[in-house]
Amino acid sequence: MLLGSNMGDRLSFLRAAYQQLQFEIAPITQSSSIYETEAWGKTDQQSFYNMVVALDTDLSAEALLDKTQHIESVIGRAKREKWGPRQIDIDILLFYKEIINKKNLTIPHAKLHLRNFALIPLVEIAPQLQHPALNKMFMDIFLDNGDESEVTKLNVRIDSC
Ligand code: AMP
Repeated sequence: MLLGSNMGDRLSFLRAAYQQLQFEIAPITQSSSIYETEAWGKTDQQSFYNMVVALDTDLSAEALLDKTQHIESVIGRAKREKWGPRQIDIDILLFYKEIINKKNLTIPHAKLHLRNFALIPLVEIAPQLQHPALNKMFMDIFLDNGDESEVTKLNVRIDSC
């Protein structure tokens, strides 16, 4: 999953999501560094803090989406414009090796292969992983994708702050 925040105390929103995922779903088994990334699509707003986390669950992908959307609302995501500021956004990047194309759920996430802010933390925690639909290593997708937006690793980790 990709966690993102670009409103207010971004670190505390990431930490709240991290804790709530563990509380409502399962222990987080892997987590990336936190990265500061330029807002994508709409650049006249505060930059994002992003990180990728992994966990194991017996839930279906749809039930997982229900949980992550519930967590977003608990943390207090206000109604907002597309690509506008958000306290916390939780995207399901991958669900094991499944490929899902439903109205409300696309897995792998439809924009994963286009965005450095998702690819860089994903490659950090899973350098050997392949995109299950494109059959290409995420590292190679990152090297070839042409996204030039800046993604900077921060000196702070969620499990130590
Ligand atoms: P956003 O808040 O911009 O991340 O968009 C949320 C919408 O994207 C929700 O309506 C979800 O049903 C939909 N969606 C589709 N695929 C995914 C995914 N892999 N992870 C999270 N949301 C998704």
